Amino acid sequence: MSQETTLILFKPDAVSKAMVGQVLARFEGAGLKIRGVKMLRFGDELLREHYAHIASKPFFPEVQAFMQRTPVIALALEGENVVARIRDLLGPTDSKKAAKGTIRGDLGVDVMVNVCHASDSLEAAAVELNRFFAPGEMFDY
Ligand code: ADP
Repeated sequence: MSQETTLILFKPDAVSKAMVGQVLARFEGAGLKIRGVKMLRFGDELLREHYAHIASKPFFPEVQAFMQRTPVIALALEGENVVARIRDLLGPTDSKKAAKGTIRGDLGVDVMVNVCHASDSLEAAAVELNRFFAPGEMFDY
C-alpha cells in the first residue's frame, strides 16, 4: 500500500472563523497523517505562482485579497489515495454545491470562501509541497 502526500491550505475563512481544529480533526479521523505544518502570510509572489492558472480570470483580484486577509496554514498530509480521499472529504470547489457532511458543505460559504485548498493530483501535490515546505520541514515517522 503506497502512502502519498498532498498539500492542504487552510484559507483565511477557516483561520478567522476558528474552524481549523474541527477540519483537522476530520482529516485525522479519516486516518490521514500530518507530515508538516506551518503558518504563513501569502505574499504576492507566492500567490501569483500558486494561482497562475487563474491569474487572468476576472475574479483573481478578489481571490488575492481574500487569500491575504489573514495568514494561512499549510499542511502536508499523508495517506493512501490521499488526493481522492481529500476531495471526497472536502466536496467540490463551490461550497454551495457541496453535500452536507462534506467540509465545504458544512463550513464553506461559496466558490471562493471554501475553507481549504487541496492539490488536485499527485503531480500538483509534488510541486505544491515543494512550494510551501523546505527540505527538513516535512517529517517521516
Ligand atoms: P480548486 O482550488 O478547487 O482547485 P480552482 O483551481 O478552479 O479550484 O480555483 C482556485 C481558487 O480560485 C478556488 O479555490 C477559489 O478560491 C477561487 N475561485 C475559483 N473560481 C472562482 C469564481 N468563479 N469566483 C471566485 N473565486 C473563484
